[in-house]
Amino acid sequence: MTGALASSPVWHPFTQHALEPAMKHIVKTEGAWLFDAEGNAILDAISSWWVITHGHRHPLIMEAIRTACDSYDQIIFAEFTHEPAEKLARGLLAVAPAGLAHVFYSDSGSTCVEVALKMALGFFHNTGAPRSRIVVMEDSYHGDTIGTMSAGERGTFNAPYQSLLFSVDRLPFPSPGCEQATLDAFERLCLGGQVAALLVEPLVLGAGGMRMYPAFVLAELKRIAGRHGALLIADEVMTGWGRAGTLFACDQAGIAPDILCTSKGLTGGALPLAATLCSAPVFEAHLSTDRSRMFFHSSSYTANPIACAAALANLAVWENEPVEARIQALQAMHREKLKRFAADDRFSNVRQTGTIAALDLDVPASGYLSDAGPKLRAFFRSRNLLIRPLGNVVYLMPPYGVGEADLDRAYDAIDEAADLFATGAR
Ligand SMILES: *Cc1c(COP(=O)(O)O)cnc(C)c1O
Repeated sequence: MTGALASSPVWHPFTQHALEPAMKHIVKTEGAWLFDAEGNAILDAISSWWVITHGHRHPLIMEAIRTACDSYDQIIFAEFTHEPAEKLARGLLAVAPAGLAHVFYSDSGSTCVEVALKMALGFFHNTGAPRSRIVVMEDSYHGDTIGTMSAGERGTFNAPYQSLLFSVDRLPFPSPGCEQATLDAFERLCLGGQVAALLVEPLVLGAGGMRMYPAFVLAELKRIAGRHGALLIADEVMTGWGRAGTLFACDQAGIAPDILCTSKGLTGGALPLAATLCSAPVFEAHLSTDRSRMFFHSSSYTANPIACAAALANLAVWENEPVEARIQALQAMHREKLKRFAADDRFSNVRQTGTIAALDLDVPASGYLSDAGPKLRAFFRSRNLLIRPLGNVVYLMPPYGVGEADLDRAYDAIDEAADLFATGAR
């Protein structure tokens, strides 16, 4: 038995406990930093799995949480409502792409995508013209529940559950020069008349390897969906809240999705909360004196008031602080620092969208389960850097306030890490 298993009953996510070193105990967070029990300061270069936007423990968000605690804990959200949820819904609609009109709350990225899929199917069911197909992009990731795994890319990580996953139609990824093939494939599927919705991560496919595609593809996909009466569901769980450079990635394509999913950065990363925003027609298809047409979905912790207060504070931070300028600065720093890898033959596919920078390390065996991932992670860990490559894909997605010297440390470490393979495993 390993030390980790012997000493703790906790089963960690995406962790092979028989191989992992003991977990680091974090005792405090601040800004771009995690502080462990041994007194190390660890640079959180992936924003604690993409949730922390402004930095850990933003003072205004923490203060809003403390204040909300004086009035609320969880409140049942059927029959009852509360100010944090009401204000937040209005606030979200004010900043989201135009055309979204209603807000359904839940508590995680996976759940808000499940909600979106159910809304889309409910829309067609309730309007008397049921449609059965969901279309997604190759290499997409939408969560780890059965529904969202069905929509996501299939592989080792969901092989044990294959028998329960439902089938979806997949578009080829719009690689540079091949964008038209993606659009044509979508058009062909739509001609079948059964496409209820295209579920897509706008501009950046996150867990699928930080694959990036241009905004015009998203705009065209929306146009095709519109022509065929299919809905576009934008999974902005990762890309939202400035991650892709604009508040929502859809803003860069100038499109309004029919349904938009948001979670990770919604509270600035402080508390779990999610929202599925939808257009008026989607809501109205569920509006009827017939009870069988209501939207059959609820999470116990729907619209937790304290989490809603944190999200309201996040909106206030966006309104009152120079968040866009911080994003621009981080974007410019990535652009500059990535240059050193452009002609470096140890790397390929050097890329960036907004605050996300990624590059593929040339290793003997790539893919999510390649040895490169754990080996790189151990190296970064030894440097007190939290960087978790996706297989051989190394990426940086720090909180927006990260300092330049700190970011330099991360880039220097990536440079050095490449030599682990140049001199060793090869
Ligand atoms: C992380 C993620 C999810 C799932 O969110 P959870 O909160 O982990 O359930 C869904 N979609 C995308 C694009 C994500 O990056």
